[in-house]
Amino acid sequence: MRLRATIPTGIRIGYTERPASGGTEFPVVDPATEEVVAHVANATSPDWNEALDLAHAAAPTLAAMPARARSQALREIFEAVKERTEDFATTMTVEMGKPLAEARGEVSYGNEYFRWFSEEAARINGRVTPAPAGGGTIATTKHPVGPVLAITPWNFPLAMATRKIAPALAAGCPILVKPAAETPLTLLLLGKVLTDVLRRLDFPDGTVSILPTTHAADLSAELMADARLKKVTFTGSTAVGKTLVRQSADNLQRTSMELGGNAPFVVAGDADLDLVLEAALAAKMRNGGEACIAANRFLVHEDLAKEFTERLTARMSEFVAGHGLDDSTTLGPLITAEQRDRVATLVKDAVSGGATVLIGGETPTGAGYFYPATVLTNVSPTSRIMHEEIFGPVATVTSFHNLDQAVATANDTPFGLAAYGFTENIHTAKYLASALNAGMVGINRGAISDPAAPFGGIQQSGFGREGGSEGIEEYLETRYIALQ
Ligand code: NAD
Repeated sequence: MRLRATIPTGIRIGYTERPASGGTEFPVVDPATEEVVAHVANATSPDWNEALDLAHAAAPTLAAMPARARSQALREIFEAVKERTEDFATTMTVEMGKPLAEARGEVSYGNEYFRWFSEEAARINGRVTPAPAGGGTIATTKHPVGPVLAITPWNFPLAMATRKIAPALAAGCPILVKPAAETPLTLLLLGKVLTDVLRRLDFPDGTVSILPTTHAADLSAELMADARLKKVTFTGSTAVGKTLVRQSADNLQRTSMELGGNAPFVVAGDADLDLVLEAALAAKMRNGGEACIAANRFLVHEDLAKEFTERLTARMSEFVAGHGLDDSTTLGPLITAEQRDRVATLVKDAVSGGATVLIGGETPTGAGYFYPATVLTNVSPTSRIMHEEIFGPVATVTSFHNLDQAVATANDTPFGLAAYGFTENIHTAKYLASALNAGMVGINRGAISDPAAPFGGIQQSGFGREGGSEGIEEYLETRYIALQ
């Protein structure tokens, strides 16, 4: 076990950290070694119901607190997390596998949501306008929706939760957080940091609860059947997102759904290949490809395709696989054996459809869920890998002759999270920005996440936005006052 800090392993119900009511625990595994690094309390029904009782009781107090008080708490949480950057980063690397430098990057990025929403908390404004027909005034005010359930994935154990916790608190909503069972430790550490700040600043008990469990479906079904829960915010797979939206119908809970993607990366014939290459590596290899906005399909103009493929293959072959805590490591393992085998199956399916493997493509033997950096060309358009989210360090490169056709191929997916376009021509840039069908379009950029920008998808990638001035709206409802 190589955890640097003492991480709480109990559930956190408001300010109380304790064993689960059933007394059971589940193991957390280091995906680079397959060793169990901790046992974590496994929440069951009495635990999440107690958390909801507390959240329901806390909601009016939280809503009535001055915005400045909520803003101050978020700012102090930002400072407290920053101070413990190394503890968060090493914990994340051990339970999730990403190289330490990337984990530090996630702490910095994820923590920015606390700073951003500490600034937004004081700017929750309505509006006052004259009624166009005359004789009255239209006034609107904003109010917190009430208790929130957040369900988060394992790929960005900190950032996927801070995007939800920070705006919920800024808006004045208590929040119950269920981390992914693969990576609960990062959020249990965050729970301790949050508790220390919120208690010191006299926030009501139950403002935040952290509920690790292997019974995710029971937790969401039971909590959503309770009308006291007002909102569900989810990041994860499209299939689970759909289940949650169905479950929200009975109590008409508000929902935000950050779901899967299948990002195209379109390189026009006049693009700057040096810039394209750096962006391609960022968009493909960040987090070992385990990112919802990871480039899934490289579509490159025929004039550049050969050089792009050669240079991408050379750079991909430089990645060093290993334990994320080792200084030399630039590519960690995948999260589980299942995920690794799923990626291997997608590659095998592509090869059986005629694809050429330029590097990688073989699952290594030995401990850890490693899969090598892999580049495929000549991939059949009907291969599964062109239609499913890869979620691994595998790049597919396809050349094109006509940009309109490339855009049509790029858009030939039911998803619509991120898309990338590269060109040196302003008209082509404007065309790609409007024609690529996604919630987020990077033009000449491979890294697009920013706490000040609205992150989110369209179509089967979900709805709702996280970050930006839009992010807090997900936790607010509007009241209209008709003034005579
Ligand atoms: P997942 O849907 O299996 O799990 C996500 C979370 O949902 C976990 O906490 C899990 O325990 C929980 N869960 C699983 N089944 C559930 C159920 N029936 N009811 C309630 N909760 C349930 O997804 P994953 O494999 O952990 O994450 C990968 C997926 O997440 C990918 O599809 C990826 O694109 C997506 N993702 C999206 C974004 C985004 O912002 N759009 C960001 C990161 C990841």
